[in-house]
Amino acid sequence: MKTTVEERIRYRLLRWGKKGPVRRGLAVMGIFFCIAFFHGVHYLRDNRKRLAMVMMSLVLFAAYASFSFPIFADNEERMTDGQLHALIGDESVSLVQEAEISMEELENLEEELLLDGFEVSRLQEGTEEEQFDLEDILNYRMEQGESEASAAEPPEQADTGTADFSKEDWRLILVNKQHPIPEDYSFTLATIKGSKQCDERIIDDLLAMMQAAKEEGITLLIKSPYRSDARQEMLFEKKIKLYMGRGLSYMDAYKLSSQIVMVPDSSEHQIGLALDIVCDTYESLSEGFGETRAGIWLEEHCAEFGFIVRYPKGKEYITSVEYEPWHFRYVGVEAATIIMDREITLEEFVEELE
Ligand SMILES: [Zn+2]
Repeated sequence: MKTTVEERIRYRLLRWGKKGPVRRGLAVMGIFFCIAFFHGVHYLRDNRKRLAMVMMSLVLFAAYASFSFPIFADNEERMTDGQLHALIGDESVSLVQEAEISMEELENLEEELLLDGFEVSRLQEGTEEEQFDLEDILNYRMEQGESEASAAEPPEQADTGTADFSKEDWRLILVNKQHPIPEDYSFTLATIKGSKQCDERIIDDLLAMMQAAKEEGITLLIKSPYRSDARQEMLFEKKIKLYMGRGLSYMDAYKLSSQIVMVPDSSEHQIGLALDIVCDTYESLSEGFGETRAGIWLEEHCAEFGFIVRYPKGKEYITSVEYEPWHFRYVGVEAATIIMDREITLEEFVEELE
């Protein structure tokens, strides 16, 4: 008769346990464990299919949970498109909630949050944002040896009717998702003040515009001028990560981010010709700025200084960017006058040059 491993072990334990009471006790315990162990082994062997099913479910559940967890963590329903846009307005809160971002990083982020297209007023509360009005800038430039007079003089008015435009003109460079910045594009940065920089060729017109606004009792503030490529990319990636953390897939996060921050290499901020301008009484980059005195004044007068409202209302289908009453692009007085008078976009203007 064939004996199993279990039977042999039990038999040996029994024999070993007969020699004294202590051994007997140990042998009984050994037999007990032996029975329990082999019982478990037999059970698992007889129920292999069931076991496999249970393990599979566990693996699948773990995999599913790791993908979808942020949805539950966020305590939000699955988001519709509309809700996604509503989220954008809630940016500052979400960043604070993002666990990986420390308070120190948050402070560094503060300036970077000043992106086109979303509300940052809440985060700005109680923080010292580096922004300058005209007085700061002029004082700074005086210290740097620039003459105040040159800044205060408005640029010469050009004859807009006969202006001969060239697509090669640096002022008319078209930068958008379809037209990334040419690799060989170069320009000289000038410091407005502190870390704020822009193309040196537009500074005088910019200051003249701020001066003219000031004479009307409007204090303009420069928010985001030049942004470096690396910074732009970093901001873009940060955005994608943020939305993925909210349960979006990479593709959805990319799409949404590209509506808010420009895709790397397609932002005018990178060539120093774009400025986000607000005023002392309305500092957030949101649509409401267009209704303020400063917003209205800028729309009426920016062209006199070579600037245009780059992303006007109702032209989203051309610019692919939502209405941004705070984003001004320098194109030179002649082109700006035509663009603002005809209420067209830079895309349309450049198209006509072809
Ligand atoms: Zn902008």
